Amino acid sequence: MTKVIISHDIDHLTVWEHRNDLAVPKHLARSLVEFISGQIRLSEILQRMKDLARNKWHNLEDLMTFDKGRNIPSTFFIGVSNGKGIRYSSADVQFWVRIIMKEGFDVGVHGIAYGDTGGIRSEQKAFIQLSGLQEIGIRMHYLRRNHLTLDLLSQAGYAFDSSVLEMVNPYKVGKMWEFPLHIMDGHIFCDGRRWQSRNGHQSREDTKKIIAKAVNEGIEYLTILFHDRYFTESFTTWKEWYIWLTDYLRENGLGLISYREAIAELEAGSAR
Ligand SMILES: [Zn+2]
Repeated sequence: MTKVIISHDIDHLTVWEHRNDLAVPKHLARSLVEFISGQIRLSEILQRMKDLARNKWHNLEDLMTFDKGRNIPSTFFIGVSNGKGIRYSSADVQFWVRIIMKEGFDVGVHGIAYGDTGGIRSEQKAFIQLSGLQEIGIRMHYLRRNHLTLDLLSQAGYAFDSSVLEMVNPYKVGKMWEFPLHIMDGHIFCDGRRWQSRNGHQSREDTKKIIAKAVNEGIEYLTILFHDRYFTESFTTWKEWYIWLTDYLRENGLGLISYREAIAELEAGSAR
């Protein structure tokens, strides 16, 4: 029976952290394209302007409240190094890691370094220091990797990675478990573009197809990524999709599980 792992990547915290890059103009251009193409409403544009004024580009409190209310044992991946659009400060990361853990959720590294041992190990060390956790997991920002990445993560001592987008079951790389990712919000909504190009109905139908395929193919741990950034009225379709998805999983008898619980099950199974 397929179980589901829900994860959240944290790509932004404030608007101000982007004062020296092009994230804000890109966001405005994207919003305009989405509005003109009829994917978003005027109310979403206005809400997005409010976010800019409030200097807030995350929705961690609201998402944690929602997940808690539905007993969703989700994992939040947050970066400890800057790169490719991640610009938040280490003070902000420290602040949020503490809160997420205090709220009872698991946290892991949102990785930037993917090809060099030094970079991988320094992010791992920084995160262990910050969180106090010994066994940690990782998801690469933008799922970046090369032919060495999984081996380097395994050698560094990561307990699990969840960066490989492929419809297969978890597998081991050395001692590390790889939990392939099966459903990602950006792929569902943007379909290869840089803006939302699929509406609510299309995204739900696409998602149902992937879930059915996973169940048919005997995927034991269906892994889902939803960015906290989209749990807001500024991205109504995305937020509604996530709420619908958690209902749909429940209605279809698909139980939720964390990476750590899944690892315990897998280890127990392989020891048998
Ligand atoms: Zn990311």
